[in-house]
Amino acid sequence: MRRVVLKLSGEALASASSEETIDASTVDFLAREIADAMQRGGLELAVVVGGGNIWRGATGAMAGMNRANSDLMGMLGTVINALALQDAIESHGRPTRVMSAIGMDQVAEPYIRRRAVRHLEKGRVVIFAAGMGNPYFTTDTPAAQRAAEIEAEIVLKGTHGGVDGVYNEDPRKNPDAVKFEEISFDEVISRDLRVMDMTAITFCKDNHLLLRVFDLMADGNLGRALDGFAVGTLVK
Ligand code: UDP
Repeated sequence: MRRVVLKLSGEALASASSEETIDASTVDFLAREIADAMQRGGLELAVVVGGGNIWRGATGAMAGMNRANSDLMGMLGTVINALALQDAIESHGRPTRVMSAIGMDQVAEPYIRRRAVRHLEKGRVVIFAAGMGNPYFTTDTPAAQRAAEIEAEIVLKGTHGGVDGVYNEDPRKNPDAVKFEEISFDEVISRDLRVMDMTAITFCKDNHLLLRVFDLMADGNLGRALDGFAVGTLVK
């Protein structure tokens, strides 16, 4: 069994073609790819979902809010997204569990590492909500931290802005930008490439995690990444 953590940003659940915070057909597209990959077998999957489509702590802080309070709002946003994803994956016949880093008994199970691993072993897709439960982080860091904790072999970071991996420059600004098939964490840090939050990158490096960055929205790509194929860029 390959144990994998998939990081989905909140904005991946929205769509440019709809006004909705959570776009049903986009969530359904992702859920179907996830359910199909699970059906093919050999995979234990945990998903860390972000909340940027609903609220980002930094936005409130810039407008003068208390940062910790604003970050709590962001974490609650991730719970809303987790429930949407749960519903969509289960509609494709795959059992799931939402585990929250913030206690909310009526909504989700509390995060307990051993229980999370048990769910994975039973073939349930585990959705980690509320990040790490601590302010001053984004969900990139809990994606890496949970991956280390549950002994996942790789973090898959799906992008949704049309950038299909790690480039030496922003390919949306420079059409001559070159994509890396593989790159080291040291190089990502020294070139200051915006692959993931720097806290998450240094965590991955220090804990010898692998990270794959790929385009989530290209048809079949998520499935290929979940199946272990070399889509996008591998950071190691
Ligand atoms: N957040 C937090 N601690 C965490 C994870 C998330 O405080 O461990 C808050 C933070 O305010 C963040 C928001 O939740 O901006 C939403 O998460 P994120 O920005 O990572 O969402 P994404 O960009 O992945 O959609």
